[in-house]
Amino acid sequence: MPFSNLGLSPALLRAIADQGYDAPTPVQQQAIPAVLEGRDLMASAQTGTGKTAAFTLPMLQILMDGASGARRQVRALVLTPTRELAAQVHESVRTYGAHLPLRCTEIYGGMAMHPQVNALRKGVDIVVATPGRLQDHLDRRNVDLSGVQMLVLDEGDRMLDMGFLPAIERILKELPTDRQTMLFSATFSGPIRKLAQRLLKDPQLIEVARPNSVNDMVTQAAYLVDGARKRELLAHLIGSQDWKQVLVFTRTKHGADRLAKQLTQDGIDATSIHGDKTQGQRSRALAQFKRQSVRALVATDVAARGLDIDQLPHVVNFDLPLNPEDYVHRIGRTGRGGLTGTATSLVCFEERNQFTAIKRLLNSEIAANVVEGFEPQQRSFDRPAGGKHRKGAAPRHIAPRDGAPRSNGPRPSGSHPSGNGPRRDKPANGSARPHHHRRGDANRGNGTRREF
Ligand code: AMP
Repeated sequence: MPFSNLGLSPALLRAIADQGYDAPTPVQQQAIPAVLEGRDLMASAQTGTGKTAAFTLPMLQILMDGASGARRQVRALVLTPTRELAAQVHESVRTYGAHLPLRCTEIYGGMAMHPQVNALRKGVDIVVATPGRLQDHLDRRNVDLSGVQMLVLDEGDRMLDMGFLPAIERILKELPTDRQTMLFSATFSGPIRKLAQRLLKDPQLIEVARPNSVNDMVTQAAYLVDGARKRELLAHLIGSQDWKQVLVFTRTKHGADRLAKQLTQDGIDATSIHGDKTQGQRSRALAQFKRQSVRALVATDVAARGLDIDQLPHVVNFDLPLNPEDYVHRIGRTGRGGLTGTATSLVCFEERNQFTAIKRLLNSEIAANVVEGFEPQQRSFDRPAGGKHRKGAAPRHIAPRDGAPRSNGPRPSGSHPSGNGPRRDKPANGSARPHHHRRGDANRGNGTRREF
């Protein structure tokens, strides 16, 4: 179906053509006509599905149709969990609204209040905001939301996870009840359903990707390794695979900073992005990464949420996330827009339960490999968690160059890139430590189950 069948105006179709989009994505095909009809939406769509355009395009059209020439007032409000996502949505509004006389401003923390106040005073049609900072402006009476006809809650589950419910409640009090509401969320768990029941009137339900499923353009791999050697293995993988742009996830802010520093010392230019950085530092880090002046961006989950990096080829879970759903969010940064991507997890013994939880959530196997020279040293690796052996899941020794995922074509998630049998290959370059068999270890790796 072409974009021209969706009922969008010529000015919007021109902006879409400027972007080089051929056809609407599934979420756009479903959402755009429904929103144009005035329906509320409850959409389960992950980042990467084209969800931003799915709400922005019809929102712009409705605002244009209803433009009265009277004093500008805020008629559409988009709430997002993070500053980065707010900035990206704002950018999308500008992009798609390039040929329209509508004004949009972004409101988020980490920036001075007064430029935001000035922008609001000048009059805007659309506000894209994080709930906390918008609440601050409401408390100071800097913004009037009584004219809002359209409300979008983007990544609703994340906003609740991040504790924004009270701020959202405060904001809702300022909005007319007679409005159109669109709720986007990657998952629809209990609390978000409750919110949906309260906010949405007879919503059109849209589900474009099964929640907690992984895009099959993403090839997943896992390497078992001792925690203390993860950094070395990561540097080895980046170097030997010649990864040019890799987003690396750590669990803590401190861990992100430390890893970025160490990678840089290893000759791999890296920078970090997390909640303790100023907005300026975060924007700069993201810009450097996007233009590939650094090879690795090390991020925490919160900072990376919603990051839209075109054509990002590689994601690495340096630490596994505590919440298995974050795994899905993390690796959803790659494999977008019809391109392939790889998601590589470095799994240490202490993370075996998290690894199991992720596989259970995805309901699929992720092959656990061992890179020669990086064999985990804990003998207890040989014992699966919970004491149960599962058949057919022996880790394989592989050389990263041959065995690590490549972005040359989609593979079903969970499949293993290097074929079936156990293999022992030489490391792809000399940086791996030589492998020493320990006494009684002769059988390790080849057929010894080390699943955990
Ligand atoms: P989102 O899910 O909104 O984060 O969008 C993910 C990416 O898809 C963004 O880089 C958009 O520019 C891109 N995109 C959105 N709609 C389309 C489309 N119809 N065709 C191709 N790319 C698109």
